[in-house]
Amino acid sequence: MDLSIIIPLFDESESLPELVAWIDRVMKKLPCSYEIIMIDDGSRDSSWSVIETVAQNTPHIHAIRFRRNYGKSAALYCGFNRATGDVVITMDADLQDSPDEIPELYRMIRDEAYDLVSGWKKIRFDSKLTKNFPSKVYNATARCMTGIRLHDMNCGIKAYRKEVVKNIEVYGEMHRYIPVLAYKAGFTRIGEKVVEHRARKFGVSKFGWTRFINGFLDLLSILFVSRFGKKPMHLFGLLGTLMFIIGFLSSAGLGIQKLYALHLGLKTDLVINSPYFYLSLVSMILGTQLFLAGFLGELISRNSAERNTYQIKEEL
Ligand code: UDP
Ligand code: MG
Repeated sequence: MDLSIIIPLFDESESLPELVAWIDRVMKKLPCSYEIIMIDDGSRDSSWSVIETVAQNTPHIHAIRFRRNYGKSAALYCGFNRATGDVVITMDADLQDSPDEIPELYRMIRDEAYDLVSGWKKIRFDSKLTKNFPSKVYNATARCMTGIRLHDMNCGIKAYRKEVVKNIEVYGEMHRYIPVLAYKAGFTRIGEKVVEHRARKFGVSKFGWTRFINGFLDLLSILFVSRFGKKPMHLFGLLGTLMFIIGFLSSAGLGIQKLYALHLGLKTDLVINSPYFYLSLVSMILGTQLFLAGFLGELISRNSAERNTYQIKEEL
């Protein structure tokens, strides 16, 4: 199989017939074998019966229905597992992504040796205030923090080499950061293609403004897990030791000052009246806690089944 097209969908019944017809129209002109994998993520509308009808006269459709709504990441992950094509393209079901982009994306992966090509909705047809502007800020933050030069990390239309989708695990709401997951797994040839974006014709967006808060937290977890997940002591141990040393030295300083003053017979204030006493106390306690957190993390990761995972690229 040359190409797998994966479409996660949740309550998109009105868009589906048009979408499948359009994809088939585009694929008629592209000389390659393909499959369409539709994942119905627990739709409450008639999406599934629409898929059943459409699939009757389109043999290359493979459809999976979740028992309930698990989210876009789970749907994509399921699609990635099922995909058999050498090139995998994901796209949204709401007709906001245009199937006309498929041939060029396919060519970029096949001929230009990209691991991943992400769409870039340079001109967007979403509401300015709740999406366009926050999305710019959010993408700039992600660029800064990850070093991956993409303008539109969370674009629904993306193309991958098969190897990529078989070696990453999209969970929670991590679909926003698939390029980061791929990059961290060693797939560093990441490209970008400006894609046409269209206004939503039917239905409503499934993600509200909370996407930006959750998205940011998810970015932090990816970065922390990939950097320190296997060696928590390198973060917590260092911070803990530093805090403890600061606390210890400053309390020792206080004590020495007091003893010296007593030795000279000067009148001194009680040590507990000095703000430094409390600061050094807090800093020593925090230092111990951080160190302990690192140590516990280290014990957990040592027992984890994935403590020694690696991916082999080739072998002779
Ligand atoms: N989607 C899904 N499960 C969900 C939410 C969304 O499969 O829980 C699908 C949805 O049907 C669409 C795609 O993910 O095909 C993108 O969703 P949406 O268009 O609502 O996102 P937006 O374009 O607003 O970012
Ligand atoms: Mg959409």
